[in-house]
Amino acid sequence: MSLSANIWDDLFASSADISQTRLEAVLALSADAIITINEQGIIETFSGSAERIFGYSAAEVVGKSVNMLMPEPHASNHDGYINAYLRTGVKRVIGIGRETVALQRDGTQIPVALAVIESRIQGRRVFTGILRDLTHTKKVERELDEHRSQLEILVAARTAALVEANRKLQQLALTDPLTGVANRRKLDEVLELELLRAQRHQTQLAVMLCDVDHFKQYNDYYGHTAGDKCLRAVAEVISATFKRAGETCARYGGEEFAVVLPSVTDVQAAERAEMARQAVWDLDLEHRTSSISRRVTMSIGVAVKSVDRPETVQQIVERADEALYRAKKRGRNRIVLSAG
Ligand code: GH3
Ligand code: MG
Ligand code: MG
Repeated sequence: MSLSANIWDDLFASSADISQTRLEAVLALSADAIITINEQGIIETFSGSAERIFGYSAAEVVGKSVNMLMPEPHASNHDGYINAYLRTGVKRVIGIGRETVALQRDGTQIPVALAVIESRIQGRRVFTGILRDLTHTKKVERELDEHRSQLEILVAARTAALVEANRKLQQLALTDPLTGVANRRKLDEVLELELLRAQRHQTQLAVMLCDVDHFKQYNDYYGHTAGDKCLRAVAEVISATFKRAGETCARYGGEEFAVVLPSVTDVQAAERAEMARQAVWDLDLEHRTSSISRRVTMSIGVAVKSVDRPETVQQIVERADEALYRAKKRGRNRIVLSAG
């Protein structure tokens, strides 16, 4: 199967020769292996590409069974495939392209696309198989798959990092940088949410305003940095006191903290406020310039919203502020309850 040697030969050849020559050219130039076999499965022609793909010369395979070009179980089954087709006319490969595996001379199995055409030459049935070596295509597909999964892993990792960064950002936006407790913005959100919940569930809601006593003097005497440290310590004990689900401690501003306590009775709210006051007392932070004690103290105003009293968040907070004012007036280091 070699390409006709010279174009001048074609020009002077008969038309039958020309079509033969063209056919040979197609066979030689095609990257696909073109193999013809007879009804017994014996190889009759073997194109140049078939030689390249399989590693056999045409002379080595022509006259032999095509089974030698297939791995098991196809090799053993192939005669059966042809017989079944000849008997029943049911096509498994003829006219239908499909992917299968071929066997090279050195025993290597390679993926191939196979199409088989049936034709008649002088009353004889001949099958022409066109085979494309898919080794490179499969390799590229595998590499692409690998790249794709690496890309997916990368995208997943980036997405997770973004989600985490977003979560941190959100947390930062809702956290007081000095003390690490919730900030005013978060407090506003929580208050609105808890008020709605209290209305829906017909439960009470308590809001506490906690204010460090004579903190201006503390700052003046110990300095701003010590003042900051004191605020952090106070924030820590308040939030440690209100750790139950739904309870929120926030920095309300300056040396003031707010606490939201859902579903509590008046007595429970007063008891919890007293616990927080006591916890700050127990910190035993020196405060030489305070007129009420030698240690840091805190006053607390508690407002409880009763179930049947329609109030806005602002109204509850105002009542807590009034209660705090009264606690200051009555001598500080105490709690005052504005019952629901
Ligand atoms: P009272 O017992 O009536 O609450 O008196 P007070 O001195 O605590 O209240 P006042 O409102 O007069 O002063 C609060 C002080 O808190 C003033 C300010 O210097 C200090 N302060 C507010 N924010 C901060 C802060 O972030 N860090 C520090 N170190 N001090 C702060
Ligand atoms: Mg204050
Ligand atoms: Mg104060």
